[in-house]
Amino acid sequence: MEWDVVIGLEVHAQLKTQSKIFSGAPIAYGALPNTQACAIDLGMPGVLPVLNAEAVQMAVKLGLAIEATIPPRSVFARKNYFYPDLPKGYQISQYELPIVSKGHLDIPLENGTTKRIGITRAHLEEDAGKSLHENFHGHSGIDLNRAGTPLIEIVSEPELYSAKEAISYLKALHSLVRYLDICDGNMQEGSFRCDANVSIKPKGDSKLGTRAEIKNVNSFRFVERAINYEIERQISILENGGKITQETRLYDAEKNETRSMRSKEEANDYRYFPDPDLLPLEISAEFIKTIAENLPELPQQKQQRFEREYGLSSYDANVLVSSRELSEYFEKTLALSKVPPKLVVNWVMGDLSAALNQNNLSIEQSPVTPEKLALLLQRIQDNTISGKIAKTVFEALWQGEGDADTIIAQKGLKQVTDQSAIEKIIDEVLAKSPSQLEQYRSGKDKLFGYFVGEVMKATQGKANPQQLNQLLKQKLVG
Ligand code: ADP
Ligand code: MG
Repeated sequence: MEWDVVIGLEVHAQLKTQSKIFSGAPIAYGALPNTQACAIDLGMPGVLPVLNAEAVQMAVKLGLAIEATIPPRSVFARKNYFYPDLPKGYQISQYELPIVSKGHLDIPLENGTTKRIGITRAHLEEDAGKSLHENFHGHSGIDLNRAGTPLIEIVSEPELYSAKEAISYLKALHSLVRYLDICDGNMQEGSFRCDANVSIKPKGDSKLGTRAEIKNVNSFRFVERAINYEIERQISILENGGKITQETRLYDAEKNETRSMRSKEEANDYRYFPDPDLLPLEISAEFIKTIAENLPELPQQKQQRFEREYGLSSYDANVLVSSRELSEYFEKTLALSKVPPKLVVNWVMGDLSAALNQNNLSIEQSPVTPEKLALLLQRIQDNTISGKIAKTVFEALWQGEGDADTIIAQKGLKQVTDQSAIEKIIDEVLAKSPSQLEQYRSGKDKLFGYFVGEVMKATQGKANPQQLNQLLKQKLVG
């Protein structure tokens, strides 16, 4: 039997505000427990929440970027449940009237096309605190530093049809919130986390199957694995005549499996009602207009511009704009070097990215700055060094041995472009290899590479490759 996979994602992105969403307490990751929580975050009786305007601006930014509806009026609601890390007994969230609704995000697919994914809604809410289980000897500790941290929850339509599509959507959204500068995107610290709703149905059926919701997976790789595990689990249940229960499941990365956590609660279990402590949020057209005018260039727009202005392939452009920092590094290097864009692309996506990956560094931490790379590329372009020698220079740049010119001079790497010098070496090589020469002339073309190799050896790789090829061809003819 063949199955369709259906996935909808709920992403919680932590907003990069200075203070909490309803209090003036600061937000900082890693502070000592309970040092960043005030009476409001602690849920003391008699205190009143005050909405953080910056959080509202950030939500509107997101709404505009996904071409969503931003209604003039939205409402904060209490979502009631008991948990030790939620001293108020309710979370302030939005329910029937969220700040952002009906948007979309275009995601790249593996076949090179894009797919438009509907975004049902995005709403503002506060985060809860955290239970601490280590070092409490049979008890649990509660840290309320995170209580009241502003979150935006972004809910997709059930329109993702494979784990790959889900990851593409997540990455596109991750990139977008960072371009907008509304979330730092740090998944390890939980600033960007995702619940994946997964169901299957017989191929072609219009009715959606029963879903399981996998909670809080915190890396792209784990989301993909968790979804794929879940798909297999559901297929095996249905193919053995069983039924899927609607439930919340937890992903265990060590065992690579999902486990049942609790049966799925219904919205009415939460007894949502408008929070009487907060007025409805009214947003004027003027407010939205100001934010719209200050929106930065977004990944998709940037990708199109890169293709148009620099003649990049959509693949290259897509890789570069996937991170704001990477695209800025590329453009800066290009502007400084004035070499053909493709040369910059090849180095940024090739040697530089490889070195960053190997050393587990982000582009901002690169020891080779755009200035340094630009000078290296200029020396390739003006034929001072060959592309191959440039790799040696790049390694020295990476090790911090000065700029490209210094390294080329110190290591004597300057390319030999003097025609007579190259000819002389070719003559020497030919004189030393009479039998190879004879074989070549009697039709063994493959030996061309042997001669190139010998000349390169004799010049320590410094002969200009194009010149060498050309001169060698002439000499070999005799
Ligand atoms: P909640 O999980 O809070 O009850 P919703 O019912 O609005 O909220 O659904 C949340 C997410 O589940 C959405 O992203 C939606 O696309 C997705 N979803 C809903 N039904 C299905 C389904 N049958 N299969 C997969 N995903 C689904
Ligand atoms: Mg949910």
